Amino acid sequence: MHRRIMAPGALAAASLMLAIPASAASHSPGAPGIGDPYYPAYGNGGYDVSHYDLRLKYQPATDELEGTATLLARTTQDLSRFNLDFLLDVSEVRVNGAKASFVTSGEHELEITPKAPLAKGAAITVVVRYRGVPSSKEAYGFTSWHRTPDGGAGANEPEAAWWWFPSNDHPLDKATFDVSVQVPDGTQAISNGTLQSTSSRLGWTRYNWRSDKPQATYLATLAVGRFDVTTGTSESGIPVINAYSKDLGDKTGAAKASIERTGEIADWLSEYFGPYPYNALGGYVPNTDTGYALETQTRPYYSPRNFANGSNTTLVVHELAHQWYGDLVSVKGWKDIWISEGFARYAQWLWSEHEGEGTAQEIADYVYASRAADDAFWQVRPGDPGPENQFHLAVYDRGALTLQALRNEIGDDAFFAVLKGWTQKYAYGNASVADFQRYAEEVSGKPLAALFDTWLFQPSKPGAAAAGAASIARVSGVPGQPESWKKIAATNDVHEH
Ligand SMILES: [Zn+2]
Repeated sequence: MHRRIMAPGALAAASLMLAIPASAASHSPGAPGIGDPYYPAYGNGGYDVSHYDLRLKYQPATDELEGTATLLARTTQDLSRFNLDFLLDVSEVRVNGAKASFVTSGEHELEITPKAPLAKGAAITVVVRYRGVPSSKEAYGFTSWHRTPDGGAGANEPEAAWWWFPSNDHPLDKATFDVSVQVPDGTQAISNGTLQSTSSRLGWTRYNWRSDKPQATYLATLAVGRFDVTTGTSESGIPVINAYSKDLGDKTGAAKASIERTGEIADWLSEYFGPYPYNALGGYVPNTDTGYALETQTRPYYSPRNFANGSNTTLVVHELAHQWYGDLVSVKGWKDIWISEGFARYAQWLWSEHEGEGTAQEIADYVYASRAADDAFWQVRPGDPGPENQFHLAVYDRGALTLQALRNEIGDDAFFAVLKGWTQKYAYGNASVADFQRYAEEVSGKPLAALFDTWLFQPSKPGAAAAGAASIARVSGVPGQPESWKKIAATNDVHEH
């Protein structure tokens, strides 16, 4: 299903293309995808965005979103045209001030042809004016926009931006964000980073949010609704803003008992992972019926269902661990998901140890022993799980087992030096599974190819020899289930992202 929109003047622009001088013939279209084998259409080629300025207005009663996105970017090749990823209805595009023609294609492509070709290395400003009802849009048969009784929220992985702003939608292209949203008085707009200011007039309140460190597009979030907002400061001095839907009902207490510990948990994690990398902290719970949570940068998204059974600090630990593993150091390609989820899961095991609810080793022993060799769980290769298994439980649990095996192989000193050094080495950038193996070998001075191959890349349960060498499953039979693991198991239908 292709929707084609052509701006006034587009036909004229197209025919002018024929008359472009020979010197411009080397200009070619930017690729419609950034080159991720799991998701060939995600992201785009030919340019790199440094900043998104989103100036929006949202009406909760009708789910109508309208506004203007201004993208600051630099071309990485001579460009005749380029794509953005987007689903809402575009009325105008300008490149460097001049009206550009555009068409939509594929599931989520917006193809933009600037009036004049763009030279490699040029700074460009792209303005996209748009409107639409996000909940009415689907791509590949799904939506990442969650309509709520009092508004809506955009959060998903690996894609969420298409429903609310045009972007180069892949973690390889990180950028800073200003998100300014006008909503009816009495309603709040929640996004990433710091709340720079609010202003009110004629029945509308504007919220100006700023996320001033590089941020992947899927980690940008927007929620509008009626929220109780709490503010504070972590012991280490990071401002905290949390927001809870006013309609969480009997889950309100459990949500607050978990998320109000954000500052404490971030400070604790920083002892393992290095200084907290952003100038804002928090979390928010819109009144959605999704089951998952997401590590949206500086301010994770949680679902009410995450708090159905009482407090869920292990989930807060997971999403905050991602602020280092996944957000600060992002995947190069989506096949590298282990460098995000394996570590966020392992942080939960460290928290369990901290809380006296079972050591990381005890949980590893339990997970290893409780899954028989013929369990399909072991067929998933966390180091390259395939798009269909990107968020399979094995990426998390076998992924964390890998880290326990590494810890036992290289010892605590080297292991924790690797955890901390990694986040510094690749700060605000991207890395792969292979990069991690290389770094762990460099820090520990040990060859680790066999260990990583066994635990991340073989479609089978690592044998007793590998497990024994890694001190996993030293116990015979299935050991007792650590207390913290019961909690994680109980919330598995509402899994972490
Ligand atoms: Zn996760």
